[in-house]
Amino acid sequence: MNTIRSANLFEEAKQIIPGGVNSPVRAFKSVGGNPLFIEKGKGSKIYDVDGNEFIEYIGSWGPHLFGHNPRFIKDALIKAIENGTSFGAPTELEVKIAKLIIDLVPSVEMIRMVNSGTEATMSAVRAARGYTGKEKFIKFEGCYHGHADYFLIKAGSGALTLGIPTSPGVTKGNAADTLLADYNNIDSVKRLVKANKNEIAAVIIEPVAGNMGVVRADNKFMEDLRNICNEEKIVLIFDEVMTGFRLSAQGAQGIYYIKPDLVTFGKIIGGGLPVGAFGGKKEIMEIIAPAGPVYQAGTLSGNPLAMTAGYAALTHIKNHPEVYDELEQKSAYLEMGFKENMKKLRKNFALNRVGSMMTLFFFEGNVNSFQAAVKSDTTLFGKYFHEMLTRGIYLAPAQFEAIFVSTAHSNQDLDKTIKANFESLKGIV
Ligand SMILES: *Cc1c(COP(=O)(O)O)cnc(C)c1O
Repeated sequence: MNTIRSANLFEEAKQIIPGGVNSPVRAFKSVGGNPLFIEKGKGSKIYDVDGNEFIEYIGSWGPHLFGHNPRFIKDALIKAIENGTSFGAPTELEVKIAKLIIDLVPSVEMIRMVNSGTEATMSAVRAARGYTGKEKFIKFEGCYHGHADYFLIKAGSGALTLGIPTSPGVTKGNAADTLLADYNNIDSVKRLVKANKNEIAAVIIEPVAGNMGVVRADNKFMEDLRNICNEEKIVLIFDEVMTGFRLSAQGAQGIYYIKPDLVTFGKIIGGGLPVGAFGGKKEIMEIIAPAGPVYQAGTLSGNPLAMTAGYAALTHIKNHPEVYDELEQKSAYLEMGFKENMKKLRKNFALNRVGSMMTLFFFEGNVNSFQAAVKSDTTLFGKYFHEMLTRGIYLAPAQFEAIFVSTAHSNQDLDKTIKANFESLKGIV
């Protein structure tokens, strides 16, 4: 595989962009080697600047539920750009997208648009603090909620693979209000609630974690969490930046049948443009300025182009509820293929899948917690990643990430991926 142009660009980039990339996980640091510079994407494939073609499973880290550059989003964007790119004043489309989300997601009565998942989670916690008048909040080890200071305490995703459990630059003061619980361990939550009686504003959780690799929260654990929050007047926040509109049209709420008080979105909600959102109970959301006193703002929030792409994606979801059956079938097929491969090779690595999110953990055992996830052999994952890449399959370049199946993945793509999985595993185990 020729990667000369990518290598040259990376050398140049490193001189002028920290680490050569604008977001850490892109840099291939945890798998070794140089990142590929991408020129274009279409459907299930991306093409790098050296002309290599890959079937890929990152989907820009989640947004591309329908693959790269789907016709209906592209056409909507081309039309929208004729009218201008930003006004900093309200538009009808913002009302339409808010209505559509409220219509689709049962727990959302009011919603505010922002520009990224990080902004969404940050603002949701601020709203919860303003609403309850309390300052502390609980997060779970291995969950990632964006890069706001007080979330970077044992966070997942890039923060996990780079080994920066608490980032320098995060003050002790900031860390002090973040309480850490163990995922899928309700006793760890009870202990914190007891030790910090009437001081906890919120519990924030990825209902299906994707940032320590895919780990599903147990139903009972989620029910208990909901009950504790009710009893203690704690705002329960589902961080659905990854799972929203991926697991179902209601996100993870569609598989647990539990309503959070607030929910955060990003990724799919922007149809491939930079968007985030937070919403939930009207009673809480009305605390946000200018309706209420909790300040939250954004020069480009609700941007017409971003709203256009998001509205096109969500409208497609609303009109085609069958996409989730299609995603489930395709993802189950991939899972089955991988499992058969492992059987043939007498390996029993944990393969976690919920809908179209999946992670192959290089650990032989059950992975239902952060403690189990980190037992994975990341060196072996690095080898696997490069074996797959050589065979034209582009996976997320880190062990503690999800791969995403899109509706654009064809049966042929999936078969090619399963074959590559067999050969790659065979070569390294
Ligand atoms: C990606 C992600 C975020 C952060 O979103 P950004 O748009 O990268 O700021 C927050 N929470 C979860 C669960 C995510 O997957």
